[in-house]
Amino acid sequence: MASDQYDVVIIGTGPAALGAAFHLTDRLPAISILMIDKEAICSGGLLNDCKQNYSFPIGFAEEYWTREEAERLLPLVEDKLQPVFKERHNLETYRRRAERIGVTLYDIRQAHVGTDQSTFLIQRLMAELAGRGVNILLKREVTDVREADHGAELTIDGAERIRADTVIMAPGRKGFGFLQRVMEQLGIPYIDNIVDVGIRVETRLANYPIVRDYYDPKFYFPERVRTFCTNSGHARVVLERYEDFSLVNGHALSERKSGNDLVNFALLKTIGLKDPVRSGQQMALFLGRLAHEIGGGRPLMQRVGDFRMGKRSSTETFNDDLYSFRPTCPVTAGDLGLAVPAKIMRHIWAALKKLDTIVPGVLHPSTIMYYPEIKMYANKPSFVDPHFRVSPHLYMVGDGAGTSRGITGAWASGIRAAEGVVKARGQG
Ligand SMILES: Cc1cc2nc3c(=O)[nH]c(=O)nc-3n(C[C@H](O)[C@H](O)[C@H](O)COP(=O)(O)OP(=O)(O)OC[C@H]3O[C@@H](n4cnc5c(N)ncnc54)[C@H](O)[C@@H]3O)c2cc1C
Repeated sequence: MASDQYDVVIIGTGPAALGAAFHLTDRLPAISILMIDKEAICSGGLLNDCKQNYSFPIGFAEEYWTREEAERLLPLVEDKLQPVFKERHNLETYRRRAERIGVTLYDIRQAHVGTDQSTFLIQRLMAELAGRGVNILLKREVTDVREADHGAELTIDGAERIRADTVIMAPGRKGFGFLQRVMEQLGIPYIDNIVDVGIRVETRLANYPIVRDYYDPKFYFPERVRTFCTNSGHARVVLERYEDFSLVNGHALSERKSGNDLVNFALLKTIGLKDPVRSGQQMALFLGRLAHEIGGGRPLMQRVGDFRMGKRSSTETFNDDLYSFRPTCPVTAGDLGLAVPAKIMRHIWAALKKLDTIVPGVLHPSTIMYYPEIKMYANKPSFVDPHFRVSPHLYMVGDGAGTSRGITGAWASGIRAAEGVVKARGQG
């Protein structure tokens, strides 16, 4: 490490962190910045699939964003990520079908990089920041953040100490526990956050042909259920590891790779708990662990045909007859009904039936439902500051802090924090 004192330390190298770093170096070229990430390469959606949505409200936490504010910053995100937009076709047909049954289809400007190409994008961005004089420390974990005289003190890997005038914390969803700990240590007030719980659907491309017209169709159903993160072409369902359980997620390779004719997407229900329940994230952890137990240490998968007949899927018959394609993420064949809370399952199933009316075929007996796909966020700091400042020298942004729910929203959140830093340094 070049120094043990920086103007700004940014925790993370995901899109929220990058948004902050680029904006700071655009506005204050002489500022000293250190970015720290515990991984060798920035993780999350920038690395996996890297679909970018450039229309409000996709990817934005609406309680912190107005359309106007998002649309002010999205061109700055676009300027740095240089997306190549995908065309969309026949939206009116799908929209009409959706509206008739109370479903909204959002028309979103989208770009898709693909997992095989995203490392090049990340390398380009990191090289550009290094060229601007940003110090980057990888495979090192920030284990503690404390307030100190006129700034903050950070502990790296439990031992090394560095100081900063300002810290921008952007540790992502996996960092929600870390954010929570820091908020508790520093006495930062927070409120319980929502949690998104749902399934990932995998089917043949022929059963969900809308993706040929619209890469990641954004359907919003009643009961706060929505489609999220659709992948097609060469698409795979993947495991996302947490400390003591795994969740499912999905990604796809770029169009340069030959396809596997499969599609996957998440169907998520947003849950906002009210008194007397204490915490959405505790509920999410509980559900993750329950699925882990029932799945014998792995997530669960069930074919729609079995689910409809009220019977569990089994390893022996999982690929028989009509169940003709092999799962890309072969987890435990079983019974979702034992693990998914009844109300969540009911609302998700109702949404799937509506989706099958809009895009007939998606409920083919062979379609696989994987569980759990859960999006966890830290309890929300009670932000009163428009720049996500939680104490004099500390900002919290990105998916973990609940200011975003996707790459572009996270990047824009980082810019908003950086604008706060610029202003606080008397140069805004
Ligand atoms: C498999 C997968 C696919 C996805 N696909 C998409 C997609 O296609 N499009 C989309 O818009 N969104 C997608 N997402 C969601 C997207 O990744 C997030 O919305 C976005 O990355 C959030 O950005 P962030 O900067 O808040 O956090 P992250 O991107 O998660 O970055 C946080 C970084 O902080 C680091 N970190 C955490 N704690 C510490 C610590 N204590 N010390 C040092 N470093 C730390 C992590 O290693 C990580 O690199 C996907 C997510 C996953 C998991």
